[in-house]
Amino acid sequence: ERTLGILGGGQLAQMLAAAALPLGVRCVVLEPDAQAPARLNAEHLHAAYTDAAGLERLRACDAVTLEFENVPVDATTQLDGRVPLRPAPGVLHLSKHRAREKAALTAAGAGVAPYRSIETPGDLPGALDAVGGHGILKTSELGYDGKGQVRVQPGDDLHAAWTALGSVPCVLEGLVPFVREVSLGVARGPDGTLSFGPLVENEHREGILRRSVFPASSSPDTALQARTLARAVAEAWNVTGFITLEFFELQDGTLLVNEVAPRVHNSGHLTQDGGGVSQFEVAVRAALGFPLQDFQPLLPCAMVNILGWPEGPGTDRQEPDWDALDRIPGTHLHLYHKTNKPGRKLGHVNVVGHTREELLQRVKTVERTLESYQS
Ligand code: ATP
Ligand code: MG
Ligand code: MG
Repeated sequence: ERTLGILGGGQLAQMLAAAALPLGVRCVVLEPDAQAPARLNAEHLHAAYTDAAGLERLRACDAVTLEFENVPVDATTQLDGRVPLRPAPGVLHLSKHRAREKAALTAAGAGVAPYRSIETPGDLPGALDAVGGHGILKTSELGYDGKGQVRVQPGDDLHAAWTALGSVPCVLEGLVPFVREVSLGVARGPDGTLSFGPLVENEHREGILRRSVFPASSSPDTALQARTLARAVAEAWNVTGFITLEFFELQDGTLLVNEVAPRVHNSGHLTQDGGGVSQFEVAVRAALGFPLQDFQPLLPCAMVNILGWPEGPGTDRQEPDWDALDRIPGTHLHLYHKTNKPGRKLGHVNVVGHTREELLQRVKTVERTLESYQS
């Protein structure tokens, strides 16, 4: 029996641990939150990411991976060289910092949105024009689900926007007129073997992923382009383990890379129920150096996120009708055992259909059932 250490104990760790068990692998999570989802199905080291005893336990694992890119550098340097960390600290260093990430993507031959790095007030004049007049200012570090971002347009005070974000290092990105957003997971084994996931189409609202659908409606050429870019990045960054690329697809089918997550991704959850191997199984395999295969779903499938609903005095309790959800054909409910908070990701519903039409009909029904409480 092997053990896989995971930095972070959220829902991604919970689902990694669930996929690991049938492979003969037990997971150990280092996670400061006592109520974190993976406490239920993994050995939970309830301590800070830099805790000496916790890191000691992770060093005794066969490999360590992560479910969260913002692990303190201290933690990774204490593991590095003592246990295989997959992906390695160098990959985390790039993917946790938007400006570094964009430079490294460009070096790997991938296109990115026009951007300017904003580190000092001197970087502000002319920056908005340089990216095309309409843009998004993003903190270089620690953002997720659209947090730490401000939209700016011609005439806006960029200095004020930067101040609102705390005057920390940021990137100003030009607003990309994408026709759709897509993503692709890719694993690379210690021997360089690549394993590609499906090209998935993603719909966001207020910066939060709401729905993913496979297959994406992109052309076969664009799907091939996505794989080519994923291979280029995985190889240029010398990735061992699992990464996910988020793309903007332009009118002519060209892909720009939005960002890279050094881990399994919310948009890959549909692989759990699409009939193929799941992203979680592949990520466990890649981290431990087990054999890899592509992880394409066998059926059209989709994922709808379940976000937390408003609660408390003055609000009607608007919990979703779980029984109604369960009665929709082709649905699989996945809950993370988290307490409710408005907008928080509490679970997801995977949906499968024999055809795309049937799938999209079912997705609509799922969304309508959830809509009674989530806007
Ligand atoms: P997460 O890590 O949860 O995916 P995040 O906080 O890192 O989110 P981004 O992926 O940078 O945020 O942006 C969230 C969403 O906002 C994107 O998926 C896209 O819909 C929109 N967005 C971000 N940057 C741009 C851009 N330059 N042009 C157009 N839309 C954008
Ligand atoms: Mg992100
Ligand atoms: Mg994103």
